[in-house]
Amino acid sequence: MSEITIKSRLLLSELRELMASSQNSQTRLNNITSLIASSMVAEVCSVYVAIPGERLELFSTKGLKSAAVHKTILNAGEGLVGIIAEKAESLALSDAKLHPNFSYRSETGEEIYHSFLGVPLLRRGQTIGVLVVQNVRHRSYTEEEIEVLETIAMVIAEMIATGELGAFLAIKEIDPRHNKPHTVKGLVLSQGIVIGTAILHEKRIEVLNIISEDTEFENQRLTIGLEDLKHNIEKLINGLEIISNGEDKGVLEAYQMLANDQSWEKRLFEAIKKGLTAEGAVQSVQSDVKAKLLRQKNPFIKEKLYDLDDLSYRLLRHIVGDIDTNTNIDLNNETILFARNMGPADLLEYSSSNIRGLVIEEASPNSHVSIVARALGIPSLGGVENIVDIIENGDKIIIDANAGILHIRQEKNVEDLFQDKLLTQSNLQKKYDNIRNLPAITQDGSQIRLMINAGLMIDLPYLKLTNADGIGLFRTELQFMVSSRFPRLTEQETYYSAVFKEAGEKPITFRTLDIGSDKVLPYFSRKKEDNPALGWRALRFSLERPSLLRLQMRALIKASSNKNLNIIFPLVADISEFVEAKKIFLKELNFIKLKGYSLPKSYSLGVMIEVPSLLWQLEELYEKVDFVSIGSNDLLQYLFASDRGHAQLSKRYDPISISVLRVLKKIITTAENANIPVSLCGEIAGKPLEAMALLGLGFKNLSIAPSNIGAIKSMILSLNLKQITECMDNILTTNQHNIRDILIKFAKDNKVEIESFSWE
Ligand code: PEP
Ligand code: MG
Repeated sequence: MSEITIKSRLLLSELRELMASSQNSQTRLNNITSLIASSMVAEVCSVYVAIPGERLELFSTKGLKSAAVHKTILNAGEGLVGIIAEKAESLALSDAKLHPNFSYRSETGEEIYHSFLGVPLLRRGQTIGVLVVQNVRHRSYTEEEIEVLETIAMVIAEMIATGELGAFLAIKEIDPRHNKPHTVKGLVLSQGIVIGTAILHEKRIEVLNIISEDTEFENQRLTIGLEDLKHNIEKLINGLEIISNGEDKGVLEAYQMLANDQSWEKRLFEAIKKGLTAEGAVQSVQSDVKAKLLRQKNPFIKEKLYDLDDLSYRLLRHIVGDIDTNTNIDLNNETILFARNMGPADLLEYSSSNIRGLVIEEASPNSHVSIVARALGIPSLGGVENIVDIIENGDKIIIDANAGILHIRQEKNVEDLFQDKLLTQSNLQKKYDNIRNLPAITQDGSQIRLMINAGLMIDLPYLKLTNADGIGLFRTELQFMVSSRFPRLTEQETYYSAVFKEAGEKPITFRTLDIGSDKVLPYFSRKKEDNPALGWRALRFSLERPSLLRLQMRALIKASSNKNLNIIFPLVADISEFVEAKKIFLKELNFIKLKGYSLPKSYSLGVMIEVPSLLWQLEELYEKVDFVSIGSNDLLQYLFASDRGHAQLSKRYDPISISVLRVLKKIITTAENANIPVSLCGEIAGKPLEAMALLGLGFKNLSIAPSNIGAIKSMILSLNLKQITECMDNILTTNQHNIRDILIKFAKDNKVEIESFSWE
């Protein structure tokens, strides 16, 4: 047994004896600080506890002046103790005074102590205090000593939090928002609107026993717990129906891999060696994970830490035998679950038909739990700070996961408003269902091609559900974004084959990897850019990483044997970029041919018109490409020099203003002259009024989000194309400034249906 293990176990067992005594809380804490000081051969041992206002109060000391107890209060970040609390990291110094953050409090008399070792008291990743030892002489604390103090700190944190040391825990400040109506913004994880009743996804498990009496017994408990955990995850994976293919399965497999991670297990067994029980060990490692999580910026590492945190809870449940979380309480179908965090497996354990909505504080759209929520069609919001402090069980909640807004405890009139909107939504939905099988033909007999934009396997059923004409834009980068590494050739090929299979005879346009700007691959580190939207992204990236592009082309070609393959390249700024990309494609095609694989029945290569520079090369461009599609989201942001994701600018420029309309008209007339098919696949095509204007300009092919198909088709069925064309011609020539009003009037006068879900 190593020296550290012996020391830590000895200290823990003495600590247990102290805790068993019937002294009052202050005396107990004083005895603990004395015990630690003597065991660590330090002149000083002090405990600081967090109090409201993010401050730290000296609660007990052996060695510093006793008059300072409950008098010395440090502000957030103040002194060495403040830094430890803020960073949730230990700090060891042989001469504390040399540290720039050293601050001297005369009431403590600590100026004579040179060496300093402080560790945070962590509970569920939150710092609830700091434990410090100090020595008069200059000395370096060893790694082992730091580890021993960290283990002790964990036990003390638990004692404080569970009240074993009296009511010391920083009392949660009463949140003034409680019981009042409240509205907060959140990130849309999965779209939709729901009204329901809040129920906390409770993962807290009370760990009563932290200090072990029998290490061998605890090892056994941990081993059995780990086995149960792995078995349970496997059962979940096998029994899951939604996992048919693609990303959902990957999510749980990544999770399973973590459960088998040897380094995690090693740390757990080591914690037992130091004198903790199996549950104490899990909690100690989890607290560490949580602390890192709260301070982590890298989304990929963060995701892994979330999963690890989630696994720890599950492991605790297996060890403590506490399966009484509310995954098995009776949920009615009004339930909106809210949670600080939640793993994908947790969500799957609920019966999804009972969950109306989800609000998760620590989740982003790319989190694994979000992917599962989308697969299950549960409207969800994430990134809402302090949600578990703001919402109470039983609160009425409205999730508007279209606008990204959460309404809590709203007055009856707000709820009524949303009930009305839900009714309108369901009435409109009924109407859209009725026209689902009709072709999108205008009143005067022009057929419009309505396609959907897609990118994940979960989008594909919408092709049938909406009866769209095909997939006008398949954003291949989404598969890359939800993976934990670059998808391999076979994975890409399988993915694209599944897309072809789902689409049947309907056409698909695959867009090559469009990453960069706001689309980040968590596993691919890149230099920070001052202007990422103008930076190393999309085709620029692919041309400089040709092996990635080649791999993707190879996967696409192989997946499209005997089928029509359409590929489009994003963010082309100069024709030469398309020419270069085409060369790579032809090389790959040749390679596949030489290998003897069967080839696509036909292929066509196109360009997304997104960068204004192309507007002055259109005729030359049309000589080279087979088709084009306008990416109006990007094109508009570059035309107006206005960030497409900037909330404050989102209403400043109208997409149906004269400059945009003229640009679009120029693209379509030149394309018609050159006999090049042109479509538009940006968000504007999914809005009835804007889409009506596009049809008036001459567009006959739109690719939109599946949820917009009903509204757009309804508009088309009620529109006379000749009339809107005349109206648009008139607008283009007469330099109007109130185009939106003119179009609204046109729609009203001519009974064109431009109603859609609008929640603003
Ligand atoms: C666009 O820019 O309009 C487009 C369709 O591409 P994305 O939104 O994926 O950038
Ligand atoms: Mg784009």
